[in-house]
Amino acid sequence: MAQIRIENVRKDYGKFNAVKSSSFTIEDGEFFMLLGPSGCGKTTTLRMIAGLEIPTSGEIYIDGEEVAQKPASQRDIAFVFQMFALYPHMNVGKNISYPLLSQGMPKAEVRKKVGEVAKTLGIEDILNKSVGGLSGGDRQRVALGRAIVRDPKVFLMDEPLGALDAEFREHMSEELRGLHDRMNATTIYVTHDQLEAMQMGDKIVVMNHGVVEQFGVPQDIYDWPATQFVGSFLGSPSMNFLSFSSNFETGDESLSSNSHSFKIPKQLESASGQIALGIRPENVSLSSSSGFIGRVIYNEYLGTTQVVTFATDLGELKAQIPSSEVITMGQHIGLELNSEKITLFDADSGQAFISVANKGIINHG
Ligand code: ATP
Repeated sequence: MAQIRIENVRKDYGKFNAVKSSSFTIEDGEFFMLLGPSGCGKTTTLRMIAGLEIPTSGEIYIDGEEVAQKPASQRDIAFVFQMFALYPHMNVGKNISYPLLSQGMPKAEVRKKVGEVAKTLGIEDILNKSVGGLSGGDRQRVALGRAIVRDPKVFLMDEPLGALDAEFREHMSEELRGLHDRMNATTIYVTHDQLEAMQMGDKIVVMNHGVVEQFGVPQDIYDWPATQFVGSFLGSPSMNFLSFSSNFETGDESLSSNSHSFKIPKQLESASGQIALGIRPENVSLSSSSGFIGRVIYNEYLGTTQVVTFATDLGELKAQIPSSEVITMGQHIGLELNSEKITLFDADSGQAFISVANKGIINHG
């Protein structure tokens, strides 16, 4: 088990800057998610932690020891690249024991360790089977077994469930999380799937274009996005943004533009400049008494809820409301925003005016 600290780590490939100065800490025993769209620098960050890439600058500490220039073999880390990558000519037991035998561990000790790992993963009854005939789930468990058996300080996983169909993926993600909770080993997991990150992670780092946009527990990141990118990347449907150009006023816990006035959290009163008002669709409701009117332009039925898209004079707005509400295309409906759930962003920089750390105003000066 280990704590990992990343300090001002940067990676350039020639003139291309793949990871900009990044800093975050992964606590001992955490299940930590590196989340972001394709090409944002997740794998590069993971490979630098593993020792497969050397940072251009910055430090990486594992349990307080600076390792940025150390080779992978000296870091006691297991990289689970692709869970299906097994040795096809060996049976299950041999696949799992291979890393120990190649380290020169005595056979009796290896047998004991493989037995323990097989018990943890519930695969004791298939140790003599050939890996060729196994189901996808069992192959995945064997691949995990081969990583676990080394007792590494840290597990690194790069989109391990990426190739699986949705149902099996959900099952395996629960199993992986359960396994982590039993073993409590620090795990870093790369994904571009925001739902997977929120469901599995103790903490999440959200990256975009090589930049760490936000780092924290899933609920804080969801409720208090630090940037417009995070607000739109997490959540499905994603956050709405209403545009307030120069002619608005803040004060008296309200944000006003032309005919509309919205109640906002008290701390946001001093927001200024071009504003994007962020509100999640589940925090928009229908209200016959509201003067903020939207025209229904699209309706998506999701079972217990429906996502209705409205055209308003501040931009498009989605509301996630019970399916029992009867909605007609073209209908004009009053809309209410839950004032406690509003985040205001500087529309030019994309930065929020309120920070999750202290729920206070960030000075963008
Ligand atoms: P994906 O989910 O698609 O794997 P990612 O977030 O993991 O994306 P990285 O693989 O870390 O992204 O790549 C970040 C950027 O660095 C990309 O633009 C990629 O093309 C570039 N890159 C990665 N490795 C190299 C390399 N060896 N040489 C040059 N450019 C590279």
